[in-house]
Amino acid sequence: MVNSRKIEDLHPVVREICRKHIEACRKRGVEIIVTSTLRDSEYQEYLYSQGRSRPGNIVTNMRLIGPHGFGLAYDVVPIVKRKAVWNNDWLWKIIGEEGKKLGLTWGGDWKSIVDKPHFEYTEGLKAADLRAGKRPSWW
Ligand SMILES: [Zn+2]
Repeated sequence: MVNSRKIEDLHPVVREICRKHIEACRKRGVEIIVTSTLRDSEYQEYLYSQGRSRPGNIVTNMRLIGPHGFGLAYDVVPIVKRKAVWNNDWLWKIIGEEGKKLGLTWGGDWKSIVDKPHFEYTEGLKAADLRAGKRPSWW
């Protein structure tokens, strides 16, 4: 299973945006760390099973690989006093705002399953497009 948290595993274009995102949040006094970048389909299937065939909350509706499988998405969490803080809406709002300023799509705006940690940069391509072989113009 591949479940990387290395920024180096992102597509170079997304890697650069991710670094800018971290810096923009820092300037607003919010420290974030990257918790997930590149995944393979096996790991996506494992995530999908959470809250379904194994314990936990449902965290994704996506069973097949999406932007994470192509290095076009990453997940973050804010850190306060060296601890990950998952439930502070004020912090998420800043992180989401700064990500969107950089052109990222934010999972916090999604309706079906709100995914605040998630940011992707796909030029509007959906998971199915990516699986079908379509790529952003800068790929
Ligand atoms: Zn994600």
